[in-house]
Amino acid sequence: LGKVAGIEIRVHASFAILVVLFALAFSQPGAAGPLAGLTWLVIIFSCVVVHELAHSIVARRRGAVVHEILLLPIGGVSKLEQLPGTPSDEFAIAIAGPLASAAIAGAGAALATAMGVRLLPVDLLSGSLLSRLVWFNLIVAGFNLLPAFPLDGGRVLRAWLERRLDLETATRHAARIGRWLAVSLAVTGLLVDVWLVVIGVFVYLGASAEEAATIVHARIGRLDVRDAMLVEPLVLEARTRTGDLGTFLRRTPQRIFPVIGAQGYAGMVTADAIDGAAPAVCVADVADPDALSVAPDASLEHEAVPMLQESPCGALAVVDAGRVVGLLRIEDVVHEVERRAPAEEPGRGASAAQ
Ligand SMILES: [Zn+2]
Repeated sequence: LGKVAGIEIRVHASFAILVVLFALAFSQPGAAGPLAGLTWLVIIFSCVVVHELAHSIVARRRGAVVHEILLLPIGGVSKLEQLPGTPSDEFAIAIAGPLASAAIAGAGAALATAMGVRLLPVDLLSGSLLSRLVWFNLIVAGFNLLPAFPLDGGRVLRAWLERRLDLETATRHAARIGRWLAVSLAVTGLLVDVWLVVIGVFVYLGASAEEAATIVHARIGRLDVRDAMLVEPLVLEARTRTGDLGTFLRRTPQRIFPVIGAQGYAGMVTADAIDGAAPAVCVADVADPDALSVAPDASLEHEAVPMLQESPCGALAVVDAGRVVGLLRIEDVVHEVERRAPAEEPGRGASAAQ
């Protein structure tokens, strides 16, 4: 759509569905017509942009890099480079959005009072534009303040819990509360409105995804690839015949091998591919030459993990100055995340013994 305050604002393609829905809903007999529907759609998403800009501008002032604001049919998302640094940063960034929405509602209500426009009854599809503007923004502010990830209120709650707990424990508590709230929303929705069920599912999944991402970040966020890789893995020479590797494969638990040719790193091959090949075939012929490699000093969380998620074989060769120095598999990262789990809190027995 363009840039506001240096932040790119983009619209997701699925937004087209919402345009059609609004045009249709406002074309019903007795409604204000498709043009009025689309005008209202533009207004409400302008309010969503203001809400997201408030998050983004505060985030940038506190040192975060803001990539863009993405508008989805269910609302807006501010894409930040990393999680907010300190609990007070997270609190300020999270609260800015609902405050901006509440400010629009407040200004609208003041204007309505001055102009003698009635604000009741609450109606988001008909009624005066000013009254709809006030109620829409009030609902956005209120809904986002529910203490459930990935909503703003969930972040406010975590920032508050972090005053006494570490990031991981605070996130676990906040995510648990978020999931309870999501289930309550969905159950209420079954009795009241099916939209609440959809929102409940969205909040439930969001809470779990946020929890997982935060735990990974808290445990391996500061590590490089070399901290988790398998050091000096077994490598295979590109011209070796697969028929000569039977005994070799039985003697090692390693199931995937970097391949080296005359020019250095030449791809990756799995034990299954070697097993399935005819004995006269070379390793190079059953290897994947496009398998990615990564440098040992690359960031584990921000560079290697996204590459691993894209990698068909689930492994990256670690290459330094043309030489294979390591192997990073998904299980190596999982192992590192598990190894760095905080120690269990001492139980009653342990504290009695002290
Ligand atoms: Zn928000």
